[in-house]
Amino acid sequence: MLFAPEALTPTLASARRVLKQYYGYDQFRPMQEDIIQSILDGRDTVVLMPTGGGKSVCFQVPAIVQEGLCVVVSPLIALMKDQVEALRANGVAAAYINSSVGQSEQNSIAGDSLNGHLKLLYVSPEKLLSQGFLQFLQRLRVSMFAIDEAHCISSWGHDFRPEYTQLRLLRDQFPQVPIIALTATADRLTQRDIQTHLRLHEPRVFLSSFDRPNLNLIVRPGQDRVTSIIDFVERRPAEPGIVYCLSRKQCETLAQKLKAKGIRAGHYHAGMTPLQRGNVQEAFLQDDLQVIVATIAFGMGIDKSNVRWVIHYNLPKNIEGYYQEIGRAGRDGAPATAVLYYSFADVASLREMITKDVDPRLAQLSVTKLERMQQFAEAATCRRKILLNYFSETLAEDCGNCDICRNPPTTFDGTLLAQKALSAVVRTRERVSITLLIDVLRGMRNQAVLSGGYDQIKTYGAGGDLSYLDWYSYIHQMLNDGLLYIAYEEGYALKITDRGQQVLKGQLTVPMKKFQITEKAEKVTRASKKAAAASAPSDSATALFERLRVLRKRIADEQNVPPYVIFTDTTLQEMAAEKPVTRVGMLAISGVGMKKFETYGEAFIKEILAHGGRPNPDDAEEADQDELPVVPSSRKREAGDTHEATWQLHRQGLTVENIAQRRSLSVSTIRAHIETLFAKGFQIRLEEFLTMDEYAEIQTARGKLGGEPLLRDLYDHLREKYDYFKLRLAITYEKRLRGQLA
Ligand code: ADP
Ligand code: ZN
Repeated sequence: MLFAPEALTPTLASARRVLKQYYGYDQFRPMQEDIIQSILDGRDTVVLMPTGGGKSVCFQVPAIVQEGLCVVVSPLIALMKDQVEALRANGVAAAYINSSVGQSEQNSIAGDSLNGHLKLLYVSPEKLLSQGFLQFLQRLRVSMFAIDEAHCISSWGHDFRPEYTQLRLLRDQFPQVPIIALTATADRLTQRDIQTHLRLHEPRVFLSSFDRPNLNLIVRPGQDRVTSIIDFVERRPAEPGIVYCLSRKQCETLAQKLKAKGIRAGHYHAGMTPLQRGNVQEAFLQDDLQVIVATIAFGMGIDKSNVRWVIHYNLPKNIEGYYQEIGRAGRDGAPATAVLYYSFADVASLREMITKDVDPRLAQLSVTKLERMQQFAEAATCRRKILLNYFSETLAEDCGNCDICRNPPTTFDGTLLAQKALSAVVRTRERVSITLLIDVLRGMRNQAVLSGGYDQIKTYGAGGDLSYLDWYSYIHQMLNDGLLYIAYEEGYALKITDRGQQVLKGQLTVPMKKFQITEKAEKVTRASKKAAAASAPSDSATALFERLRVLRKRIADEQNVPPYVIFTDTTLQEMAAEKPVTRVGMLAISGVGMKKFETYGEAFIKEILAHGGRPNPDDAEEADQDELPVVPSSRKREAGDTHEATWQLHRQGLTVENIAQRRSLSVSTIRAHIETLFAKGFQIRLEEFLTMDEYAEIQTARGKLGGEPLLRDLYDHLREKYDYFKLRLAITYEKRLRGQLA
């Protein structure tokens, strides 16, 4: 039996024991304890906490210690599945019912609920409100209702789900059962709607700080974003991440471009079949895909805790959405990065989309929200301050972990610059958009400039000494400063304001900020480097972490669950650092509860022992010789220095991703080294890159095509299943087997 109620009235002490036993955590986070107390007291409770704050524990732990069944209402199928899988992996009896669950399984879940075996039952709102379901619940002992993503109830919010408003029925039909509402959205109207629509009775409201200090916030100009994204991903070959795009087409195109660079990327949008979407999501959860390029349809239900970065290819519609999306990175609390690409074109197209909204009230609201988003993107002060401010929080000091803090702009007297731009606006008779104005200022000779006759005006070419991006930034500052405005209804033409006129007449000076758009913003600052150095893992811990990751992946694949359901990265890191080899030692690791210890403890301890006892990599080479082509040791190996360096690291057991990281090279470069080394007769761990099944399939395809097919044809014939790297390795392998190389 997994659960033993300790007393009739559960206490915080029993909650703490449950936290340790089932979750493997030593203590509650500050607010969790108060929230749990409120729930144990039987109070209606509202929990507003950012993503990753630890909301689930708040209702799951009381559900475990209390008698009866906790019914969790959750809007997304994927989310339910993840949470239930995670609960079960921790040894908690949980189940979910939604449209994806077949009738016979539903019956068996109903049976488990009736005989008191279940502690938590997740249901979709549709299911909850469907014919007869509430009556069924009446027959059970329901300990509480937990309403997850409770902001979906508010029509002011960005995730409004009409069926959520029906949840008011719960109070009518279960007047005695406490309701816990949880959300990561904290805006005032949403909060009010949650309380009134759910008819909460004197609820206790817990508003935790929305600060996510581990997220590095970066905004970059929208130029060249594809190149910039590829570069970003290649420098993080082992880090899973999400790129959000506005349109389906963009998702597909960008994913294709990433794939062409050898990046394991997939796309996800609402235009795909549920099966396709499920597969992509699954592959991402399993760490088989590194990158998902998605519309915002993706992610609400994603519980993956080791997402290391989120990129916004386009400007989001509002700060709530942006904050929720970037919140999917770094849920495990480890450092993570959020990059937003900002272009004015995005603002324009979003505006157009929004104002098509039929309800003028909503359209106006949306425009206002978009403007706040735009201000954030154009800001010259600490970004986190602006964000928290939006959620009515204040941050006493600049955060030190955003691009502005890391790379503060310098201020200079921009009056002359402003006058040039303003004068050009006047002389183009206030008819040109930002892009065209910059072209005029920079003296470009393109169709738009020439056909307007703008090469004839006095300020033509007056700003030729500045780059496009510089002008772009200065004009935005002028817009923010109220010297100019955009007439959306006149093709986004720039118009001068009264304030702008004053500047033009020399009555006002204009301070401006100069931004350096450099990689510096992203690099680790000296302060944070120092902090990191204190806890920096040793080489041996890094290598062990890699081994544990591989083990976790193997088990995850066997059991068909996402790797992080077994252990999170943070837990593996702690294991790699502490190297526990006893039961007590293992249970002391944060994230190892009883159930997980029983299921996985031994395998991980063995791996740790094996790591400690394997100082000589040559032994491993010996063992591989049966399966892999062997190079006579007398053979003189020739490879350049850079290949040699890669070879040495590969021999030490590092993955390609690790080598790339260690050498600050891209994964594709390291892969190319591996190919060359293999072709030159060096012994590599081929099985890491190509399984024998894959080899066989590629061979069959080559046979079918006949002769020496072009790689491109082979790639197409196999329906892009294998990248060029695998294809080349397979071909080389075959040549080596036939002795053509040796
Ligand atoms: P939310 O639902 O608010 O987004 P989760 O409940 O998924 O957040 O929690 C985020 C992460 O923090 C999870 O990996 C969870 O296991 C972990 N966590 C939650 N509470 C604690 C705690 N008291 N100690 C350590 N880790 C915790
Ligand atoms: Zn900052």
